[in-house]
Amino acid sequence: MTDCLFCKMAAGEIQPDVVYEDEQVLAFRDINPQAPVHVLVIPREHIATLNDLEERHAELVGRLYLAAREVARREGIAERGYRTLMNCNADAGQTVFHLHLHVLGGRPMGWPPG
Ligand code: 5GP
Ligand code: ZN
Repeated sequence: MTDCLFCKMAAGEIQPDVVYEDEQVLAFRDINPQAPVHVLVIPREHIATLNDLEERHAELVGRLYLAAREVARREGIAERGYRTLMNCNADAGQTVFHLHLHVLGGRPMGWPPG
C-alpha cells in the first residue's frame, strides 16, 4: 500500500530506528515510547488489523513473536520480563492500520491495562 506509513518503512522509503529485520519482518523503535524499551514488530506484508489475518498468515504471525523474542534478548529485557500486545480497531486505540506487535519493557507493567 503506497499510502501506508509502515509499508514505507518495510520498503525502505522511510528509515526507522531498526532493532531487528529479516525477509518477512521488521522491528523498530516506537517514535513515542511508552516504556524504556518500546519496539514495534511488523510484517513486511500489509495487513491492516488483526481482523484481517488469514489462515495463510499463520507462520507469519509466529515469525512476529520470534522477532519479539529476539528484540527482548537484544534489548536485555528477556529475563526481567516484557509485554507484547496488538491493538485492534477503535476501542483498543489502534492508530496505524498496518499490523504491529508492541514489545514493551524496562519497567514493571500495570495490570489490567487501561
Ligand atoms: P497503535 O496505537 O496503532 O497500536 O500503535 C501505533 C504506534 O505507532 C504508536 O505507538 C505510535 O507512537 C507509533 N508511530 C506512529 N507513527 C510513527 C512513526 O512515524 N515512527 C515510529 N517509529 N513509530 C510511529
Ligand atoms: Zn502497510
